[in-house]
Amino acid sequence: MTRIVIAGGGVSGLSLAAHLAVTDHRHPVVVVDDASKPLGDMTWASWSDRPGLLDAAASRWFERVRVHVNGRTTVLPLGRYRYRVVRGDDLLAVVRRYTDSLRHFTFHHGHVDRVEDDGVIVDGRHMRAKWVFDSVVGPAEQPPADAALSFRGWQVHSERAAFDVETPTLFDFRTPQGHGASFVYVLPVDAHHALVEHTSFIAPGAPQDVAAQREALAEYLADVVGTGGHDVEREEHAVLPLRSAQSPRRNGNALTIGVEAGMMKASTGFAYQRIQRDSAAIAESLRRHGDPFHLPASPSRFRMFDGVLLDVIRREPAQLEQAFGALFRFRTAEPALRFLDEATSVTQEWRLFAGMPAAPYLTAARHRLAR
Ligand SMILES: Cc1cc2nc3c(=O)[nH]c(=O)nc-3n(C[C@H](O)[C@H](O)[C@H](O)COP(=O)(O)OP(=O)(O)OC[C@H]3O[C@@H](n4cnc5c(N)ncnc54)[C@H](O)[C@@H]3O)c2cc1C
Repeated sequence: MTRIVIAGGGVSGLSLAAHLAVTDHRHPVVVVDDASKPLGDMTWASWSDRPGLLDAAASRWFERVRVHVNGRTTVLPLGRYRYRVVRGDDLLAVVRRYTDSLRHFTFHHGHVDRVEDDGVIVDGRHMRAKWVFDSVVGPAEQPPADAALSFRGWQVHSERAAFDVETPTLFDFRTPQGHGASFVYVLPVDAHHALVEHTSFIAPGAPQDVAAQREALAEYLADVVGTGGHDVEREEHAVLPLRSAQSPRRNGNALTIGVEAGMMKASTGFAYQRIQRDSAAIAESLRRHGDPFHLPASPSRFRMFDGVLLDVIRREPAQLEQAFGALFRFRTAEPALRFLDEATSVTQEWRLFAGMPAAPYLTAARHRLAR
C-alpha cells in the first residue's frame, strides 16, 4: 500500500501526522525522527483567532499583551485573537491521542540521510514511500536570507514577584540598540518565573554577540522588570535566517514542510501557527485531490512587505520600533496580528501603513522592484 514518510517529528512533522490522522485513513504513515532535537526542550508561543486541532496541547492562553514602544507602555486586548503557549511534550501527547489508535501510524527512531523521489534513506536503508514530507533535509538550495533573527532567552527565577502572570510582553524596546534593531520579549510562567528573551535583527551571517545579549538581559531584569535578583534556570539561543522569498517546496513526490519550507514569517520569526495551517492544507489536498500539492498560495504582497521591512531596518535599525509602534497603535492588537497573519485586506493595510514614515519604505520598495 502507498506509504507516507514524514521526515522529522518536530512541530511540523507531528502537526502533519495529527492532521493526516483525522482526514486521511488510506495511507500508512511513518514519522522518522532521530531525537537530535529533544521535544521536551521546545516551547512555542503563537496567536490564533480560531480553534485548532491541537489546541488541547496549549498550557497557557492569554487574552492581552503588553508592548513598550516609543517610550510608552500599553496593555492591549487581543480582540478575537488568543495568545497560547504549547510545550513540546504536550504537543507530542496530544498528537499521539490521534495517532495511537490507528494501526497504520508508526513512529520510527532513525536518522534520515537523504530524501529521494521514491522514499527516504534512513540509517543507510531505503524506506519506500509514495509521498515524503521533509522537515529535515530541505531543498537543494534555499533563497538568500534577507536578515537573521538573533535571540537569547533566559528562563529565570526572580527574587521578587515581578512578572505579570496574565500579560506577556510582546516587545519592549528598553534595551540597547547597538547590535541591530533589538527588543525584549517576556513570557510569564508565574509571578516569579518567566522566559525573558533578547531579540535582534542582524545581517545574515553576522555573529551573535553573546556577552552583549547577556548584559542586555541582566540589565533589563534589574532595571525594567525589577527582579531584585534572579537565577537563570535555562538558556536558549538561536540565529534564524529570515527569508522573504518562497523556498522551493516540491521535489518529485517530496514536499518540504516546516521551517525548511519557509514557514517562518520573515518579519517575526514565528512559525507555529503557519505550520498548523499548512498541515491542515496538506491533509485536505491529499483527501480531496489524492496528492499533497494543491496548497493555497499566500498573496505575494506579504512577502514583499516582509522584505521591504527587513531592508529598511538593515539601513535604519530605529525604524523597527517605529513600525511596531504604528502596527500596534490601535485599541486592540487585532489589526496588527491580522496583518502579521497575512489575513488583511489592502484597505486595512493602508490604514496600518498610515502610521509609518513613507520615505524609507518607498525607497526600499523601489530598490527591490528594480532588482
Ligand atoms: C529556540 C527556538 C524557539 C522558537 N520559538 C518559537 C515560538 O515561540 N513560536 C513560533 O511560532 N516559532 C518559534 N520558533 C520557530 C519555529 O517554530 C521552530 O523552529 C520550530 O521548532 C520549527 O519546527 P520544524 O518542525 O520545522 O523543525 P524542527 O523543530 O527543527 O524539527 C525537526 C525534527 O527533526 C528531527 N531531525 C533533525 N534532523 C533529522 C534527521 N536527519 N533525521 C531524522 N530526524 C531529524 C529533530 O529531532 C526534530 O524533532 C522557535 C525556534 C527556535 C530555534
